[in-house]
Amino acid sequence: MPELHLNTQAVHAGYEPEKQFGSVSQPLILTTTFERENGVPREHIYTRNENPNRISLETKLAILEGGADAIAFASGQAAAFAVFQAVLEPGAHVLIPDDCYHGIRTLFAQVYQGWQINCEEVDMSVVSHVADAIRPETKLIWIETPTNPKLKIFDIQGIAKVATDKGIPVACDNTWATPFFQRPFELGVDIVMHSTTKYFGGHSDILGGAVILREKGTIAARIRAIQGTGGGVPSPFDCWLLNRSLATFPLRMPVHSSNAQALAQFLHHQAAIERVYYPGLPTHPNHEVAKTQMQGGFGGMLSIEVKGGMEKAIELAENLQIFTHATSLGGVESLIEHRRSAEGLHPRSPDNLLRVSVGIEFVGDLIRDFEQALARL
Ligand SMILES: *Cc1c(COP(=O)(O)O)cnc(C)c1O
Repeated sequence: MPELHLNTQAVHAGYEPEKQFGSVSQPLILTTTFERENGVPREHIYTRNENPNRISLETKLAILEGGADAIAFASGQAAAFAVFQAVLEPGAHVLIPDDCYHGIRTLFAQVYQGWQINCEEVDMSVVSHVADAIRPETKLIWIETPTNPKLKIFDIQGIAKVATDKGIPVACDNTWATPFFQRPFELGVDIVMHSTTKYFGGHSDILGGAVILREKGTIAARIRAIQGTGGGVPSPFDCWLLNRSLATFPLRMPVHSSNAQALAQFLHHQAAIERVYYPGLPTHPNHEVAKTQMQGGFGGMLSIEVKGGMEKAIELAENLQIFTHATSLGGVESLIEHRRSAEGLHPRSPDNLLRVSVGIEFVGDLIRDFEQALARL
């Protein structure tokens, strides 16, 4: 068969109607343990190690991202943690972006405290900054692009080349762009991480994560062992639900993105908005890089800074009627969040910054909602 399109894979990959009943929708295999035959395990043994719903999900995730293997976890954080556990060791140095999901910073600051891991933040907007920061003991370069919450864009191919020349693995958190818009493996990345809680789940009702590997090998085997033995696994029901959500993922993404593009352009012209962060705007400092490494759109996330500080920002968020003031992102419904309040002990976001997850509602309604909310400021 010729290679199938992403939309077809999103529907079919990982499952064929099963033999017992010919069930078209995959049955939910709610069991922790599996019967042995004459003392020998048949296919599966125990759900922490594997479960048919999880195998289907992992097969689909690997195909959608274009990798050789996918390993599912109970959250995005558990997935990121598994990557760090697999490639770092005491004395290791790791580079992370100076703007990235705050939970990644927090993992190094809190959980890895005392493990002698040296985590250095770099502004990766310029590739040479990454090259200059590499040391003999650098064991991992962690990219996230576009970043959370400032939508910085990093040249994936440029960074991957610098790292590969030195034999250092590169991991990319592809949660915001998703393989619909951005394909890190084709740009030289070794490991892709996802919070499947976001666009893959798409309905704000499943927590999950995944690590996808470009090649099977030592790192893949270590992460697989961390999954089964560490035990941070998703339940069969979460795998089933996520698998079902993935069927419509390629249909949702272009709507998220075109809505965000239109809203970003509208907000860019509003006097009450000091700044719009969106890689699809020509004013974005790395718009040209975004254009070369993202295809078909720039994603559904944007951030804004509101004139008048934190008070006005929160007032704007509260004035909106369709956008819900809540954290998280990637669901069908639009959300807005005063980001600084969600960043825990050491917040970094400017206090007038609102992060917007643009949903798949009718874009005219979303823009009109902002018009009325801005008029009441
Ligand atoms: C949400 C998020 C995470 C963490 O994922 P959880 O599923 O909440 O653990 C990591 N990276 C990015 C970019 C995210 O948006």
